[in-house]
Amino acid sequence: MRDTWPQSLWRDTNRRFFFPSPVVDLDADVLIIGAGFTGLWTAHHILELQPGARVVVVDAVQPGFGASGRNGGWCSALLPMELADVADRHGINVARDLQQEMFRTVDSIGQFVAARGIDCGWAKGGSLTVATNNAHGSRLRRQVSDSHAFVGEQDVMWLDRAELESRIRVNGATGAMYTPHCAALNPYRLVDGLVQSLVDRGVRIFGATTAKRYGNGFVELEGESGLVFVTSPNVVVATEAYASRTRPSRRRIAPLYSYVVATEPLPGEVLAEIGWHGRETVSDGRLMVTYAQLTADGRIVFGGRGAPYKFGSDIHSRHDTSNRVHAAIEETMHQLFPAASGVRVSHRWGGPLGVPRDWHAGVYFDATTHAFHAGGYVGDGVALSHLTARVLAHRVTSTSHAILDLPINDHKSRRWEPEPLRWGGINSGLALTKLQDTVEGRSGRESRFLSAVGRLF
Ligand SMILES: Cc1cc2nc3c(=O)[nH]c(=O)nc-3n(C[C@H](O)[C@H](O)[C@H](O)COP(=O)(O)OP(=O)(O)OC[C@H]3O[C@@H](n4cnc5c(N)ncnc54)[C@H](O)[C@@H]3O)c2cc1C
Repeated sequence: MRDTWPQSLWRDTNRRFFFPSPVVDLDADVLIIGAGFTGLWTAHHILELQPGARVVVVDAVQPGFGASGRNGGWCSALLPMELADVADRHGINVARDLQQEMFRTVDSIGQFVAARGIDCGWAKGGSLTVATNNAHGSRLRRQVSDSHAFVGEQDVMWLDRAELESRIRVNGATGAMYTPHCAALNPYRLVDGLVQSLVDRGVRIFGATTAKRYGNGFVELEGESGLVFVTSPNVVVATEAYASRTRPSRRRIAPLYSYVVATEPLPGEVLAEIGWHGRETVSDGRLMVTYAQLTADGRIVFGGRGAPYKFGSDIHSRHDTSNRVHAAIEETMHQLFPAASGVRVSHRWGGPLGVPRDWHAGVYFDATTHAFHAGGYVGDGVALSHLTARVLAHRVTSTSHAILDLPINDHKSRRWEPEPLRWGGINSGLALTKLQDTVEGRSGRESRFLSAVGRLF
């Protein structure tokens, strides 16, 4: 069965491009498999370094079909790995450099958006993680003070209730952790603007084209008119969660579904009650990740993880919606924003994000297939993919740069366990995380035992 698009708000409200598949064999300096942010930014950065490079990008469906076109629209400086772990392994200065580079990355994307005039609703209002019980409050305050080993007090701070309410009113919130390093955007429109800029610079993009096999500078593509072959000395695999579908990367990443809802534009009186003038992105202090933004046209987009991992790393359009998970997300949205309870939900969608075994994003070169790989963002890839793509571009063009010293370069996560261990392990982790949120919600105290055995999803 062919992959079909989910009914996301982003795609519904966007210009749609269509690229056909190639009909003849191709030669390229660089062939990029996957036209999400990783693949598209890689093409962009390669052209910055070598303007005349012949770059070809192929996608099994169309640009933005994967997570890049259907995410929650947080362009954040978040990393999936803990800075303390990075510091333990590579030293505190490397951890600090990595975080500073992420701060700059968010601004670089903002500058690109402004320079190209991309109408993607970009609003860099920062991000709030609100505490709605005492357990959240004590954990978030600790996170604020721990973060100051790596970043300045202006980068991560605690807002008390009055300061929070001057920005936004979230039901039951007693304070929030705030960072200015995050923007809200319509991600599909950024894909669109990026695609247009690449086409303007001569990049050839093909849709409906699946890379079936690759190795040693040779790629076999299956398109609408059959098989086509590409010869290219450089191959970049930028398929993130979807890498679990193909050898040899099958167990390098586990796809986990995340789900999102969007409301109709909020009526003026509802918006007046909530505030949200700065369009900060918002989550709450529970461990199972939630994420919200206010769109440029005044809708709440609200998402959450927690859906069970599918046996065998299954990715399929039938998983793009889940009545149970979408209903739970709507309930949480209405708990936090009761004023919006009467506003109709217009869109429900979801998609797979990629989780590596060690929760560490990375770029690596596979000597067996002679291909570069990048990914492993665990739901933080909107900005991080821009940075991994820069690393990839320097690797592909053999140009030196200080970012090659960052620990995302040359990082290859170990493989996930085979099934059914993978299924059992991931779903146990998810269940423990949910249990911890429930226990904390009831007791108001942080559950240290469960923190030790659970993992943040
Ligand atoms: C619901 C959801 C919400 C999220 N929210 C956020 C957020 O708010 N902020 C954030 O930072 N991150 C978020 N993420 C994660 C973020 O979207 C991803 O980390 C990022 O988009 C990954 O980009 P990518 O280009 O690596 O992969 P993708 O965007 O998934 O692109 C991979 C592409 O590869 C193509 N492909 C796969 N196999 C082949 C093949 N064999 N041949 C050719 N093409 C192939 C696919 O069609 C796809 O278009 C979210 C993810 C999801 C699913």
